[in-house]
Amino acid sequence: MAIETRLEQLTAHRAAELLRQGAISSVELTHAVLERITQCEPKIHAYLTVTAELALEQAKRADEQLADARKTGDHPSHTFGTGFGAPLLGVPMTIKDVISTQGVTTTAGSRILENFVPVYDATVIEKLKAAGAHLIGKTNPDEFAMGSSTENSGYGVTHNPWDLERVPGGSSGGSAAAMAADEGVFSLGTDTGGSVRQPASLTSTVGLRPSYGRVSRWGVIAFASSLDQVGPMTKDVRDAALILSVIAGHDARDSTTVNTPAPNYLMGLETGDWRLDGMRVGVPREYFVEGMAREVEVTIRNAIAHLESLGAEIHAVSLPHTEYALPTYYLLAPAEASANLARYDGVKYGPRADVAGDVWDVIRATRGRGFGPEVKRRIMLGTYALSAGYYDAYYLKAQKVRTLIKRDFDQAFDQVDVLVSAASPVPPFRIGEKADDPLQMYLADVFTLAQPLAGIPAISLPAGFSDGLPIGLQIMARAFEEEKMLHVAYAYEQTTEWHERKPNLRG
Ligand code: GLN
Repeated sequence: MAIETRLEQLTAHRAAELLRQGAISSVELTHAVLERITQCEPKIHAYLTVTAELALEQAKRADEQLADARKTGDHPSHTFGTGFGAPLLGVPMTIKDVISTQGVTTTAGSRILENFVPVYDATVIEKLKAAGAHLIGKTNPDEFAMGSSTENSGYGVTHNPWDLERVPGGSSGGSAAAMAADEGVFSLGTDTGGSVRQPASLTSTVGLRPSYGRVSRWGVIAFASSLDQVGPMTKDVRDAALILSVIAGHDARDSTTVNTPAPNYLMGLETGDWRLDGMRVGVPREYFVEGMAREVEVTIRNAIAHLESLGAEIHAVSLPHTEYALPTYYLLAPAEASANLARYDGVKYGPRADVAGDVWDVIRATRGRGFGPEVKRRIMLGTYALSAGYYDAYYLKAQKVRTLIKRDFDQAFDQVDVLVSAASPVPPFRIGEKADDPLQMYLADVFTLAQPLAGIPAISLPAGFSDGLPIGLQIMARAFEEEKMLHVAYAYEQTTEWHERKPNLRG
């Protein structure tokens, strides 16, 4: 059978289909991806660990299962939810190094976890494995997912495949770069304040942040627990829906997951009808701000016009507290981080500084050496915001503003079905450009901080280019209305060509 593209370029849903038909084998597919990794990594550095041997072993086993299924006529279906429980059988997965993988080093991009090998899989990994996927490697993040460029990793920077001098975004920059360069089939990232959507925007890939509580955080190294969510990072919208369908759902080990069954997000994307008649699309005034790159604004306005041409009704809306999202996030996230990171003391995990003195000297030296500058900055910010005397003025106040931000969205979603904006105010910036100026770096997140504060889902997908540099469209929905968001995203994707472009990595 003729395959339309090189194996490493396949999406997960297409790969699963070809595997099921016997048109390709999992070993072939895994080999192709590993070869691509070998070829690209010297330039890109998306991965911290590549589990080549393990991946090939598991691919072999998947091929046996696929062959058995074909013999007995018990075909594993590629369509999720049709009975057979392995929609990803034989498909390799690329995982952000913040998510625990049993027996495979998991560093969170930090030197303080350089020798940490989890003894269990995160729930999301368990679910993906149960769906038939196998691990191919772990990707480079900003340390503890703190950053917007992947420059804060303790293990070197990741380069943007569209321009190697530029950042891939962050903190899931390794996953995003791997998707853009076809160094993987699908990936998982984590999004606390934009870390799935902003790098997707900067690499012309798809990144979906689910509603808070939709996906289990068990086994995910914590940054800010009231904001952290795991999300699919993929090459198209359909894969985002497929992977979300696999990882979503209640988990008894994470009491913040909701108890309602997760829908099959692929349903509704099968219709082939891209009309959006009756869909009310809101354009929040506050998401077109000064400081936003002109070409980003033009691209997003064009995308809105495109949605209108598909039949959507466009409404101007207001989210009046938007300007407070950044200060609110940068109080609450560091506050939670300062508590979560207290566990890294050289006793429970990771390396221990070998110094003379008492236990406090050891802890001080371990943390002093193990944490990078951004992590230390966050711990100090967070500790300050939580300290007696400042708690009311900062932490408590920020919690109140968080409620106002959530109310803005509630009111907007009384008028419209989805909201659209840019995912990043600028196209990918140069490596080093913002590295010395934390405030400039924090501004890279202006459009992706309010949604986690409100607990709502949002997706970024390819929407255009400026001088060859990617620009992403963000679509948001009310909490647990991922289907609506995916419907609009899919219609946009299927009637535009941006997602088909690939970076030129030769030369
Ligand atoms: N860039 C934001 C930060 O540095 C968001 C990071 C994230 O979503 N993990 O906190």
